[in-house]
Amino acid sequence: MAVLVFSYQEIQKESDVLLVKKESQDFNYLAEQFADIKILRYQIPGFDQLSLQQKKYVYFLTQAGLAGRDIMYDQNYRHNLKIRRALENIYQNYKGDKNSDNWKNFETYLKRVWFANGIHHHYANDKFKPSFSKNYFDTLLKETKTKLAGEAYDVIFNDADTKKVNLNPDKGLVKGSAINFYSPNITEEDVDSFYSKMKSDKEKPIEKGLNSKLVKKDGKVVEQVWKSGGMYGASIDKIIFWLEKAKNVAENKTQAKGLGLLIKYYQTGDLKVWDDYNIVWAKSTDGDIDYINGFIEVYNDPKGYRGSYESVVQIKDFDMSKKMAALADNAQWFEDNSTLQKEHKKKNVVGVSYKTVNVAGEAGDSSPSTPIGINLPNNNWIREQHGSKSVSLGNIINAYNNASGSGRLKEFAYSKEEVEFEEEYGQIADKLHTALHEVIGHASGKLNEGVGTPKETMKNYASTLEEARADPVGLYYLPDEKLVEIGISPDANGVGRAAFDSYIRNGLLTQLIRLNLGDDIEEAHMRNRQLVAAWAMEKGAKEKVIEKVTKDGKTYFVINDYKKLRALFGELLREIQRIKSEGDFEAGKALVETYGVKVDQDLHKEVLERNKRFKSAPYSGFINPVLVLVSEGDKITNIKVVQPVSFAEQMLQYAKDYTTLPDEN
Ligand SMILES: [Zn+2]
Repeated sequence: MAVLVFSYQEIQKESDVLLVKKESQDFNYLAEQFADIKILRYQIPGFDQLSLQQKKYVYFLTQAGLAGRDIMYDQNYRHNLKIRRALENIYQNYKGDKNSDNWKNFETYLKRVWFANGIHHHYANDKFKPSFSKNYFDTLLKETKTKLAGEAYDVIFNDADTKKVNLNPDKGLVKGSAINFYSPNITEEDVDSFYSKMKSDKEKPIEKGLNSKLVKKDGKVVEQVWKSGGMYGASIDKIIFWLEKAKNVAENKTQAKGLGLLIKYYQTGDLKVWDDYNIVWAKSTDGDIDYINGFIEVYNDPKGYRGSYESVVQIKDFDMSKKMAALADNAQWFEDNSTLQKEHKKKNVVGVSYKTVNVAGEAGDSSPSTPIGINLPNNNWIREQHGSKSVSLGNIINAYNNASGSGRLKEFAYSKEEVEFEEEYGQIADKLHTALHEVIGHASGKLNEGVGTPKETMKNYASTLEEARADPVGLYYLPDEKLVEIGISPDANGVGRAAFDSYIRNGLLTQLIRLNLGDDIEEAHMRNRQLVAAWAMEKGAKEKVIEKVTKDGKTYFVINDYKKLRALFGELLREIQRIKSEGDFEAGKALVETYGVKVDQDLHKEVLERNKRFKSAPYSGFINPVLVLVSEGDKITNIKVVQPVSFAEQMLQYAKDYTTLPDEN
């Protein structure tokens, strides 16, 4: 499964710890904006720490990924490649007026096609409606001597193939979908009967239909398999070429074995080999570099069989890994020194392992629109018997957060000082909170003997309470000198203060921007944040630990006593663990319902009003950093990371360098 995210608002739902981020001073994350799209850039932290061989490994894997780029266009719609190439030809050769609205609309249309890998919206699935006229388009075609005719031309303007993936059964799942996974004469009944007849192993079922198009020829239904010598063979041969090179510089034997199997799978199209590959891949956890490459997610098939081509190449997040390892090494110290009742502390606590990686290159279904996490393989029996890998894409999440700018922070922070602390320590506090939350928080505490699992005893409140226990663990320790002592925090006070300000500001104010007026809070992480913040506010009310202040008609929450607030977080942690350890459903329910669900309507209205001026495009995607070979003679001596000039430049470069398929496949 890919963990998907479609907007800034949603990314906050996905990451456990939500903070309004500081704007990075030295990197320009936002490349451009058009239609409903924001194009962002990302950096590859840690790339320079890799050895030359590792850099080559990354390079070859990203080339393999890009070699399949055309496949995604053709999978999305049978005329996409033809249309894209015609548009690109116009874009590069038109000599007429480029300041007219018509031209700008044409440019936007092309950019939308690039972003979606085709003429249908990447998320909504609807075909784009061009804002230029047919006449204007004809002029462009004529003046640039571009050939585009027949169905591929008509479809830009007419009402055919309006949905890429149609999930409304009334219109027919197969018939109503423009996706190029089934020939137009295939019916849904054909699909059902074909796969119900196909034999499969009950214990170890393959992912039927994953790597083929289903077509009807002379009344007979057959699969056109995507493999070397088969459909998309030209692309796949290029992918194999680069995977062979990668295999030669793999970091270890398991990686090389995996790549060998992936190559064999691309050569044969045999889905049993795909399973063999995934078993090795799932166990391949040594090394600093990892990747996915293949026909993987089936969201684009209304029948859920066929995988879209994608590739993501990742390197280990060295900085985060170091922090997590330091915490895991000291997990028992954190357990022993926490505020839990003695009988609720684990005697032998083991830190939860949690993986963050940094993306080095994406292609196909993962680009420009990207997941923020990856959890694979998809085949269930392999997950159960051989395990799976789950990672979050750290630099992608970071780019999302940074691209939003500091405007919102300045709007909702009470003082200049608060903004300054956030700008100085916000980023590191956020990282440390995530690490503490995941590695220590979710590992901490034990249940009393005979008490059922929280899922049984806390029922629908279980996940909120689990988060509301992990967060205070993080908050309690963020201002602790121990973090400085083990070398992962620069300044206990600074980090603690920035973390507390940000947590309260978010839990009581800014997270409300993600909610429609009148709605209750439903999502577990959001409930947890309001619960923790509102509970601390109420318990410290007498001593004004947190104070609600109104200035110029705007509401702020100001922390007056950070020490006392820390003690309150400790107290809440102890209570929530008690609730879970004893299975005290009524107390758990009361906590969540009292503090985590209801929203102050006047305040909510105010927050939405104040947030209005920060509206930005709802969808974001990324251009890839370019890996540039440095060589002496024909020997590669180094590989450098260079940022692309613009979205258009990268898309045209890709079209030039990775044209691997004919117009029609
Ligand atoms: Zn969590």
